[in-house]
Amino acid sequence: MSSQKSLLERLVSSSVTIANAAGEIICDVMKKGDLGIVQKEHLKDLQTEADREAQLCIVSSLNKYFPNITIIGEEDETVGSTGGKIVDISRDTPVNITVPDNYCNINEKEVVVWVDPLDGTSEYTQGLLDHVTVLIGIAVNGKAIAGVIHQPYFNYKNPGNKLGRTIWGVVGGVVGGMEIKSPPVDRYIVATTRSHASSTVNEAISSVSPDEVLRVGGSGHKVMLLLEGLAHSYVFASPGTKKWDTCAPQAILEAAGGSLTDICGEILPYAASAPHRNSKGVLATAAGQDHLALAAKIPQQVKDNLIP
Ligand code: AMP
Ligand code: MG
Ligand code: MG
Repeated sequence: MSSQKSLLERLVSSSVTIANAAGEIICDVMKKGDLGIVQKEHLKDLQTEADREAQLCIVSSLNKYFPNITIIGEEDETVGSTGGKIVDISRDTPVNITVPDNYCNINEKEVVVWVDPLDGTSEYTQGLLDHVTVLIGIAVNGKAIAGVIHQPYFNYKNPGNKLGRTIWGVVGGVVGGMEIKSPPVDRYIVATTRSHASSTVNEAISSVSPDEVLRVGGSGHKVMLLLEGLAHSYVFASPGTKKWDTCAPQAILEAAGGSLTDICGEILPYAASAPHRNSKGVLATAAGQDHLALAAKIPQQVKDNLIP
């Protein structure tokens, strides 16, 4: 076996460090107190200084170390930027990454990285800090194959414990940074949006007969609930999320044995040319759940409503 690290191993490992640095920026902006909020497409679609600065740092750093990859970030005015603070990728202890043989010879030109520098911005502005994540998703041949989720405020309600943690995973490899847990067997728990609900979103949830519905912010946070065994599924029958919201969570969830698709159970494409919007919603399930059986429970009229 060669001791030389593969591109994917270096990219995931660097993304862990870069996501940690982005998390520090997010915490610093919050500490300063002036969030610099601007409205994007609509009232509930916000951007803060933390979103802008974290993206600038992530994109500039990835560009510096991996100049030939394609990077698509949520805060699009900074795409391709080299003006941000460059993270020293040797600053953190390297993490263990398992890369399956079929991903050992990827070259930079094949890679598309989807970046959500701060997922859960509404919740960040409202002080629901455990809903906030930094998402770096890696796609090759249109498929989400690896991802990093950083939770800058993990443990913030447990002072004395280490603040923040980072999870990484490669599809066909393993998940690092956390212990994967199974959801309870005696009740069915669904996670969904707290700020983008609609009658269609609620109809889809009712159709899967949950015992409990967790209305929380962020795609990253909802997939974390599946990995932690706190929910069985993430059901969102609405076109609001984008590829940067789902790429990293999908790759890590799949590495853990779960699934993430559109609400019909069809795969999401992650090539650079793919539409940014997940127009047919999101359906994700924890490991051991029957994903397609859940997709089949979503009423046809809900699915028809989402046809672009
Ligand atoms: P939520 O589950 O509502 O927290 O949304 C998960 C991710 O999708 C967040 O990044 C949201 O900003 C984004 N999102 C969901 N619905 C919409 C929408 N209607 N407009 C803009 N962004 C949305
Ligand atoms: Mg987001
Ligand atoms: Mg965001």
